[in-house]
Amino acid sequence: MTFSHVVSVSGGKDSTALYLRAMERGLPFRAVFADTGNEHEWTYDFVRELPGRTGGPAIEWVKADFSAKLARKREYVAHVWAREGVASSKVERAIALLQPTGNPFLDLCLWKTRFPSSKTRFCTDELKLAPMFECVQRPILEHGLTLVSWQGVRHEESLARSGLPRLQRINAVPYSMPASLRRLGEDWLAYAYRPLIKWTEDEVFAYHRKHSLAWNPLYDAGMGRVGCFPCVMCTKSEMRVIATRFPDHVDRIEEWEALVSEVSKKGQMTFFNITDDPLISKGWERDDYDWSPGRVGIRARVEWSKTSRGGLQYDGLALMQAEFNTSCNQWGACE
Ligand code: SF4
Repeated sequence: MTFSHVVSVSGGKDSTALYLRAMERGLPFRAVFADTGNEHEWTYDFVRELPGRTGGPAIEWVKADFSAKLARKREYVAHVWAREGVASSKVERAIALLQPTGNPFLDLCLWKTRFPSSKTRFCTDELKLAPMFECVQRPILEHGLTLVSWQGVRHEESLARSGLPRLQRINAVPYSMPASLRRLGEDWLAYAYRPLIKWTEDEVFAYHRKHSLAWNPLYDAGMGRVGCFPCVMCTKSEMRVIATRFPDHVDRIEEWEALVSEVSKKGQMTFFNITDDPLISKGWERDDYDWSPGRVGIRARVEWSKTSRGGLQYDGLALMQAEFNTSCNQWGACE
């Protein structure tokens, strides 16, 4: 049996420790980064520089492409919307906007005419798992090799991850792929290998120090996790840090909300799901509900992130922490 080791790199602390662990093991391996198009520029820099700073293997970048799906969507809008009596100006505007932008996250949302959410998290599968599978894992499996997919997950991260084994036989074909391919995947030899599964967060950071590698600077800027910027499931405090320290990213999401809204028959589409919002969810199903961007869009969520006591008071202390949070109090990084 010939093994092919593939390490998933995201630019976060766990996947960086995973990359270092694979180097330490001394086995030949490939490292892959899936570019969602919604990452912070520091994460892109961190991933780009990782091989040079560690002496590890080059990192292969993969990116989902929704060009064909958007072309089919344009066809659908042109025929079905027109038949349903949607105003021709709206149909034309939607068709003009349903063009590939080259940004996978935005193109995915244009194609789906909505943003992902905690309950419909199609983003991970479409933006990360599927391009990794098509570009890297599938060729390995089709050549008859045994895939060992290294994953930087840990028991203490969540209840869902608390039961994961260190080594597990898997079907590597993502759920978003056709059922016929999923059936084929049952026969391919693929394993998930999770060497950090019992590690604590402190051990992950200590491992960076052991290898004299500075972690992604977003942690020192106050982010509790590194991934999409923002993630559709980001916490109130993470939203506050992003809005305070990286307002350009809020502007970008606001532009995306406007674009995705224009290709939707329903109208206003929000980055954060309206039903998840603790402040404005009450009464959202009513016909006279205020769906204006200022009421339900990312700006409203930013304002809420600055508040305390159920959103009734502005939280001065939290805002100061968003400005001045450092690795000292976040991770105990200073010696
Ligand atoms: S980080 Fe969040 S938004 Fe990005 S792919 Fe994962 S779940 Fe989706």
